[in-house]
Amino acid sequence: MPGAIVVGGGIAGCLTAVALRRLGWDVEVAEARPADADELGSFLTLQSNGLAAMRALGVLDVVLPLGFPTPVMDLWSASGRRLGSMPLGPPLDDGSPARTVRRGDLYRVLREAAVTAGARVTTGRRCTGVVETGARVVVTFADGSTAAADLVVGADGVRSAVRPAVSGRNPGARYLPLLNLGGFSAGVAPDLAAPPGRMQMMFGRRAFFGWATAPDGATWWFANVPRRVEPAPGELAAVPSAVWRAELAALLADDSGPAARIVAATPGDLGAWATYDLPRVPVWRGRRTVLVGDAVHAASPSSGQGAAMAAEDALALARCLRDVPDEALAVYEGLRRRRVERVVAAGRRTSSSKAAGPLGRAVRDAVMPHVLRRIGPDGGLGWVFAHRNDWEEPVAADAVPRR
Ligand SMILES: Cc1cc2nc3c(=O)[nH]c(=O)nc-3n(C[C@H](O)[C@H](O)[C@H](O)COP(=O)(O)OP(=O)(O)OC[C@H]3O[C@@H](n4cnc5c(N)ncnc54)[C@H](O)[C@@H]3O)c2cc1C
Repeated sequence: MPGAIVVGGGIAGCLTAVALRRLGWDVEVAEARPADADELGSFLTLQSNGLAAMRALGVLDVVLPLGFPTPVMDLWSASGRRLGSMPLGPPLDDGSPARTVRRGDLYRVLREAAVTAGARVTTGRRCTGVVETGARVVVTFADGSTAAADLVVGADGVRSAVRPAVSGRNPGARYLPLLNLGGFSAGVAPDLAAPPGRMQMMFGRRAFFGWATAPDGATWWFANVPRRVEPAPGELAAVPSAVWRAELAALLADDSGPAARIVAATPGDLGAWATYDLPRVPVWRGRRTVLVGDAVHAASPSSGQGAAMAAEDALALARCLRDVPDEALAVYEGLRRRRVERVVAAGRRTSSSKAAGPLGRAVRDAVMPHVLRRIGPDGGLGWVFAHRNDWEEPVAADAVPRR
C-alpha cells in the first residue's frame, strides 16, 4: 500500500487525507498546531462549487449541519443605497445552497472525517524540510524527527514550508493591503439583523463591512480595513480588542446601516488577520512532492473561494493518482493551474475595490448596479461556481496540455 505524509491538517490537508484513504493509501496528516490549540477564529462561506467537491469526497453530510445557508449576497453603498444582489452560486442538485460556517467547526469536522477515514492525524508536528531521495521522500520535523513516504502533500497553508522545498524559485506570499477583522455579536436589535440567508456587504467610506444573522440571532460579521504596511509577525495579535473596537467605531461612524452598532454589540475578543495571496507559484511539484490549497494558490479572502479551491484540489489530486498514476502530479497541475490562477486574480480585483479612494468609490457606486444587471445573476462568476467533478469521473492522461 503506498504511503503519504500530508503536511498540514487544515481544509486541504484533511480533505486530501480523506481522498487518499479512499484510494487505500496509508496516510499521516502532520499538523503543526497542538491538539489543544485555540479554535481558529472567524467564519467563512462555502460556495456551491466547494460544497460539490466536498460531496464528491463524501464529507458533505458532516459539513451541512454546520452554520447556516447564505445563498445570496446583497451589496450596499456607504450611503445606504442598494447596489445589487448576487447569488453565491446555484444550489447543488439536492437543493443545498452556499453555507456560512465557523472556521473552527469546519476544521474540527474535517479532521474527524480524516480520522474516521483511517488517516493518522498527529498534532504539534511542524514540518521544517522535505527532501526527495530516490524512491522515497523524507520529511523533517521541528523536533528533529523524520518520516519517509512515497508521496508528500504540502497542505500547509499560505506560509508553507513545503513550497520552498519543492523549488527555491517559489515565491513567498504577497501582502494585500487590507486587514480582516471579525467577530460574533451575541444578538442585536431586530432592526439590525440581516434578512435570513442573505449575506450583507457594505462598501463603507473607510472600511468594508460584511454581516449575516444566524438562526440563533447572533450576527456574524467581518470588516476589511485598508493598511498599507504589512504588520510584523505577532503585531495584530498584540492589539487589545478594545483598541480594534475603537478603531472600527471611528472608521464606520459615517456609514449608514448597522455596521458600527453591530461591532458595539460584540462581546469578547475580536480576531484580526493580515491578508495575502499567491498569484503564481512556478513549481507545484517534484517527483514525489506536490502542493495543494493555500500552499500553492492562496487567494484573497475576498474571493470567497479558498476553502472551495482546497476541496477541488484534494478531489483532483486523488482522481489523478487513481487514474493516471505515472503522471498524476503533472496531470493534477494541468487540471488545476489555470483555474486557480484565475480565481486568485479575481480575488485580488475584489480586494482592491474594497479599498477605493473617494473618486474610485463614486465611480464604483455609480457603475456597479449597471454592471451587475448587465453581467447577469451570477455576477460574472458562473465559471467559478459551475465547476463540478464526481469521484467516479475518470481522468485521462491527455486530459490537459502538459508544460
Ligand atoms: C479572514 C479570512 C476569511 C476567509 N474567508 C473565506 C471564505 O469566506 N470562503 C473561503 O472559501 N475561503 C475563505 N478564506 C480562505 C480559506 O480560509 C483558506 O483558503 C483555506 O483555509 C485554505 O485551506 P488550506 O488547508 O490550504 O490552508 P489552512 O486552512 O491555512 O491550513 C493549513 C494548515 O497547515 C498547518 N501548518 C502550517 N505550517 C505547517 C508546517 N510547517 N507543518 C505542519 N503543519 C503546518 C496550519 O496550522 C494549518 O492547520 C478566508 C481566509 C481568511 C484569512
